[in-house]
Amino acid sequence: MDRFGVELGKRDCMMIIGLFGEDSPLILALHNDLNEKGFGSCRSTQDLPRDQSQHLVFRKRRLPPDWESLREAGMVMVCIGEPVEPAVPFDLVLSPRQSEVEALANLNRLVRQNLTGSQRPSWDEYFMRIAQVASMRSNCIKRKVGAVVVKDRRIVSTGYNGTPRGTRNCNEGGCPRCSGLAASGTRLDECLCSHAEENAITQAAYHGTSVKDGCLYSTLSPCLMCAKMIINSGITEVVFNIGYPLNDSTFQLFEEAGITIREYRLI
Ligand SMILES: [Zn+2]
Ligand SMILES: [Zn+2]
Repeated sequence: MDRFGVELGKRDCMMIIGLFGEDSPLILALHNDLNEKGFGSCRSTQDLPRDQSQHLVFRKRRLPPDWESLREAGMVMVCIGEPVEPAVPFDLVLSPRQSEVEALANLNRLVRQNLTGSQRPSWDEYFMRIAQVASMRSNCIKRKVGAVVVKDRRIVSTGYNGTPRGTRNCNEGGCPRCSGLAASGTRLDECLCSHAEENAITQAAYHGTSVKDGCLYSTLSPCLMCAKMIINSGITEVVFNIGYPLNDSTFQLFEEAGITIREYRLI
């Protein structure tokens, strides 16, 4: 591990960071700092190796004319001072008046983002997005909800809401309550649609898979009925994207049963 908190050598593709600006103590300090972190130096585009085995700093007073192709090749571009061409999409613009500590922190953050691939979703985002895709399979005309059950960061089951297996789909008139467009929270006993969480748990049962100690991701916070099923199935954590309005007793029940429940909002 280096000072970025990541292993520099473990990146599939080496990084080139361009530092552009007039010579100044600040640009020197940034350059030296990157060198200390294992970045090699390069002063002209001709010197850029074809097969990079090392991360590089490319330092220039001005942008080279072929900066667009360098950017396409993945160069991260940092401008120190006022950008001469304001239209250039620099990844970071640092003022020469900025303190060295502050500038280094900004640069380090940018490097770390690029090394770790900030585009990569976190586990929460990954599973919640999969739950969201599952919700798209829902045949319910009232609401589309998706759920996944995860154990050891692996999906063991998925579910979405809708009428039971082998019966007419909700969107084909299979559920009288949904077809009647009952107000939220009313005539619940007439609803034939199973909930996404319920279906994720029963699908696991269908395949003889245990969900004990699992974590359930749902695009909507569970209702009281699903909460009871979640507790008794042995699931220990629930993550939801959007909170259902009438859920106080559900939260209390989870708390009493020792189940962690938390919100994870997809952006
Ligand atoms: Zn329905
Ligand atoms: Zn439910």
